[in-house]
Amino acid sequence: MVTGSNRGIGLGLVKEFVKMNHPPNHIFATCRNLTGSEAKALQDLATKHPNVHVVQLDVTDHSSVKAAVSVVESHLKGQGLNLLINNAGRNSQTPFLEDVDQQDMLLTYNTNTVGPLLIVKEFLPLLKKAAKETASKDLGGNKAVVINISSFIGSIGQGFTTTITPVPPLYAYRASKAALNMIMACLAVELKKDGILCALIHPGWVKTDVGSEEAPLMVQNSVEGMLKVIANLKSSSSGAFLDWEGNEVAW
Ligand code: NDP
Repeated sequence: MVTGSNRGIGLGLVKEFVKMNHPPNHIFATCRNLTGSEAKALQDLATKHPNVHVVQLDVTDHSSVKAAVSVVESHLKGQGLNLLINNAGRNSQTPFLEDVDQQDMLLTYNTNTVGPLLIVKEFLPLLKKAAKETASKDLGGNKAVVINISSFIGSIGQGFTTTITPVPPLYAYRASKAALNMIMACLAVELKKDGILCALIHPGWVKTDVGSEEAPLMVQNSVEGMLKVIANLKSSSSGAFLDWEGNEVAW
């Protein structure tokens, strides 16, 4: 399941899944508006690939998250969910202190931080079910994996050292991703006993609405890299913060 999959990196991930030699039986591609031009590319993909199920999900709306669980469950018919990618996210247009705005801070936190946590909470029974479907003791792809798309610029250790272009403070965005990192580090510890691996991935600086036209990396390159990283996750990767090439990112 990939959240925020009507455009950008999320859509790129779904496109990559359907291209695989052995594509997943079910790909749950969530987006907040099922109709209209924003969802057209995804709906077209679902028409061509019956294993793609387009599911309504607004990450800031708890009732929408719960409704999505029921839809996913109805397709899985007793099976579990073995991969959840919390990708949906928003940037904020408040780069400097003078722009900081309470509403914007809270909406960004709700979308990038609280949303992914609620999604893991509500999908936990399906993730646990997938983890139990194999006797393997090793965490990773043959059990259940939760990936959270974080950002290098949410890293206090490395997020100010980029030499490509100086990144402004972006208080709302950076803080929301730093908080997401802590939440997912906690989840990695809490869910290990259930056989669920949680990890964070920085997708690179990617040409999308969040990344802007200036970004050097194309969606396809980022997504191909991230899927390789996901495929190679091992028990020791639980709680890791990696980039799309598999390098560790500092907290
Ligand atoms: P896009 O702006 O292209 O895509 C963002 C996606 O998130 C859209 O599908 C959007 O849906 C969805 N979304 C936003 N708010 C909500 C919501 N409340 N409920 C459900 N879906 C929502 O950006 P990217 O593809 O670049 O972003 C994907 C992830 O990658 C984000 O988490 C971002 O922070 C992260 N990231 C991106 C980087 C980059 O350089 N591009 C760098 C580091 C991290 P809608 O069309 O409805 O708005």
